[in-house]
Amino acid sequence: MRRPTTFATFGDSLPVLRRLAVAGRGRYTPDPAAMIPQSPCNLCGAREVEEVAEFDRHGKPLQTVICRECGLVWTDPIPSQDALRKFYSEQYRLQYKRISQPTLEHVYRAGKVAAQRFRHLKGLLKPGSVIVDVGSGGGEFVYLMRCLDFDAQGVQPLEGYARYSQEELGIEVHLGFAREIQIPPRSCHMVTLYHSLEHMASPTEVLEHVRGWLEPRGWLVIEVPNVEATCQSPGHRYHQAHIYSFNDATLRRLGEKAGFRPHRTDLSPDGGNISAVFGKESPGPIRTGIPGNCERIMGTIHRHTLLRHFSSLHPYTRPLRRLGRRLKEKRAARRFHSGREVLDAIRSQELPTIPL
Ligand SMILES: [Zn+2]
Repeated sequence: MRRPTTFATFGDSLPVLRRLAVAGRGRYTPDPAAMIPQSPCNLCGAREVEEVAEFDRHGKPLQTVICRECGLVWTDPIPSQDALRKFYSEQYRLQYKRISQPTLEHVYRAGKVAAQRFRHLKGLLKPGSVIVDVGSGGGEFVYLMRCLDFDAQGVQPLEGYARYSQEELGIEVHLGFAREIQIPPRSCHMVTLYHSLEHMASPTEVLEHVRGWLEPRGWLVIEVPNVEATCQSPGHRYHQAHIYSFNDATLRRLGEKAGFRPHRTDLSPDGGNISAVFGKESPGPIRTGIPGNCERIMGTIHRHTLLRHFSSLHPYTRPLRRLGRRLKEKRAARRFHSGREVLDAIRSQELPTIPL
């Protein structure tokens, strides 16, 4: 069973795409011929898979499978590299026609998240560290890191956002896919991928490529949605934009496969996201497969029924929390006239003096 699919872009650019979709325009559907079956498994190389879903969170056809050997989850087929490239150039045209830059609310939200990310990482940084943020969205994290005197730069395939980051925030952003970007070998202290790895056609190749950028004692930081999350409705688990879905075991094993040693893994308070920090040191011999992980993920997914979901507090408290947050962001953003002003305020309020 092979079906055409649609897909979106890297994490921090998603609000733009959601608005385009709401407007009923701007959905880019690639030629079905540009979709390629994804086998074997990108993580362990096995070929035996099981279907876990036929539809995405909006009820559109999206075949999603799980590897029986390791538990990696992916949409099948996936877009080819050419289809992804076409998507980004098409999205750029749509973006500039209707939405030219992130809204101030979006910058405010992304800036607050960027400040949290810095607090999470600061123990690993040293003054003046070179940091490359892959999938840098509107550039908020890179901008704040530069304000704190780190040598930060972004990588972003969406031209509109890359241009916004450069022109509005004055930061350096490499336009393109991570695998195409040439950063001097062993020149970076840290590479971050916040909600971008799940959008990539080959996570293994991307991690192996960025490993070359890192100095011998460098750090890799990844945050992705958790495929075992139960904070959302069961029907909302699969997203057209997410080619791959991970749990903590597959994310750690992926890092090991690419030549990293797991240092720390954390779940967000609602269990919706996993963040992992890896050191560049070699992890030693890599095992293939993750015994029991496929069964564990399938068990979690099957136990998370609608009845169980609506018997929990999540469907009632989540929308209220989100609404409250959105209203607060809207109110806060009204005080500013530009994205740079928003981020400067967050920097002075939340990161005034940062001893490393
Ligand atoms: Zn596998």
